[in-house]
Amino acid sequence: MNSLFAALPTTVFETMSRLAREHDAVNLGQGFPDDPGPRDLREKAAEAVLNGWNQYPPMMGTPELRRAVADHYREWQGLDLDPDTEVMVTSGATEAIAGALLALIEPGDEVVLFQPLYDAYLPLVRRAGGVPRLVRLVPPLWRLTEEALAQAFTPRTRLVLFNNPHNPTGRVFDEGELALLAGFCARTGAVLVSDEVWEHVIFDGREHCSVLSLPEMRGRAVKIGSAGKIFGMTGWKVGFVCAAPELMRVLSRAHQFLTFTTPPALQQAVAYGLGKERDWFLATRAGLQRSRDRLAEGLSRLGFAVLPSAGTYFLNVDLAPLDLSPLDAAPVDAGPRDEAFCRRLVAREGVAAIPVSAFYAGQPVDSVVRFCFAKTDATIDRALERMGGVS
Ligand code: GLN
Repeated sequence: MNSLFAALPTTVFETMSRLAREHDAVNLGQGFPDDPGPRDLREKAAEAVLNGWNQYPPMMGTPELRRAVADHYREWQGLDLDPDTEVMVTSGATEAIAGALLALIEPGDEVVLFQPLYDAYLPLVRRAGGVPRLVRLVPPLWRLTEEALAQAFTPRTRLVLFNNPHNPTGRVFDEGELALLAGFCARTGAVLVSDEVWEHVIFDGREHCSVLSLPEMRGRAVKIGSAGKIFGMTGWKVGFVCAAPELMRVLSRAHQFLTFTTPPALQQAVAYGLGKERDWFLATRAGLQRSRDRLAEGLSRLGFAVLPSAGTYFLNVDLAPLDLSPLDAAPVDAGPRDEAFCRRLVAREGVAAIPVSAFYAGQPVDSVVRFCFAKTDATIDRALERMGGVS
């Protein structure tokens, strides 16, 4: 029992969202937009439900959605995917990640991960029997370096679980870093599982580069995407997996015994959404970029050191320049300083955020706090107003 609890801890998102409800706080912790999502997609989903799209769809996903995923990635990322053999729909990206781990590793296999890491990764790797090998990314640049990769990869590396754009840092890895990583995967024969759920949430004119577009990775990478993130409807839990047919055959074995399918009405609405005009995606990015800038400016005005965010719904602040000595003096707040800061912030100021130490397996960076900016101006302003006295 104890070992199960150690391997499967309570997610920080549940903890912080519960505290946010208890304190009636503005929740800038868990990453979700506070608007209802694009009206046309919601209408398509409602129509599909009324039109009877309610029984099990094909295990691999509806043909309409698989085709739409292949078309979308051809247009946006230059990928050439066969919708029949190289695309699979899952119930969210988390299912896709869990399935990939169950399908691709044997107990004792080494898995390379990058910390800070999205909090689901490590528990899933451990429960699948994988042996984690952690690469540390260091603020404020959070760069992938050859030295760090060389320490993590061994001849026993079977899988790499990568995330780009990266949650929680907001980093978008550049082509040099991707090439470096691809080189290590090719040399050790590791499969690269790439969580690219934030592919459309990137700023300042950037374009997403998928690992599947690197020629040496085409046969050994698994790309994971998420409609919830693309359309800002995180509760929909419609994910997609793209991989070469040989890998896909193995991945689909895990999917059939996990969720088997994903609600067909949502799949049809997502298929419609992926075909939207280019301008819609660009305008959505621009809106999120404005929200990022609004929160960043507000937090800087309050005295926080705001770290750059090139993508995702998140920006981080470094607490180091603030005087946090009162936190150290309070025994009730024992634990990492960023966690103590977040517990105080939610209880006293009524604003929830996420301590970045929660994304480390050991020796955490404990002076960085993550805020979600995928919110209306009114929500951002209310949070800033409440935080007026905090620094
Ligand atoms: N992906 C979301 C985030 O990073 C959280 C999802 C969840 O609550 N499990 O905030």
